[in-house]
Amino acid sequence: METGKRESMRMEIESRSENEEFARVVVAVFASRLNPTLEEIDDIKTAVSEAVTNAVIHGYGNEDGVIYIETAAEGQELCVTIRDTGRGIEDVRRAMEPMYTSDKSGERSGMGFSFMEAFMDAVEVESEPGRGTTVRMKKKIRG
Ligand code: ATP
Ligand code: MG
Repeated sequence: METGKRESMRMEIESRSENEEFARVVVAVFASRLNPTLEEIDDIKTAVSEAVTNAVIHGYGNEDGVIYIETAAEGQELCVTIRDTGRGIEDVRRAMEPMYTSDKSGERSGMGFSFMEAFMDAVEVESEPGRGTTVRMKKKIRG
């Protein structure tokens, strides 16, 4: 890929946990154009998986919905956006704190956003209650 040239890909998936693996693999294949290391690929897959799982579980509460995924590369910078039009987040800052979870079942550990932040260079979350959530993540691929 020429340096500086922007290439992108968009996809929509139904909000179902079975589709999470599909999203993760497609983003990984797109990212592979930037010649990442296996570790970088794993980091990207983990981050995408956490964001898509959040959209399925929290955004749409396991009900029907559409998840919009956009992946772009500009030079060696990969940018992945995961968007849902679900219930949204009231307090984004609190939601992103390590170990914060709104889940009452005890099944979730509240570490999803922390993993995204650990494995990507930047994570930005925009959300409006009742309107949905957009998670933008960036990672420079060093290869
Ligand atoms: P884990 O990811 O460890 O299974 P978790 O999903 O609760 O647990 P995070 O991924 O860090 O933890 O998310 C923290 C909280 O932010 C969630 O409990 C939920 O309240 C809120 N949240 C995250 N993503 C969304 C989303 N797409 N829509 C609505 N709420 C969200
Ligand atoms: Mg989560």
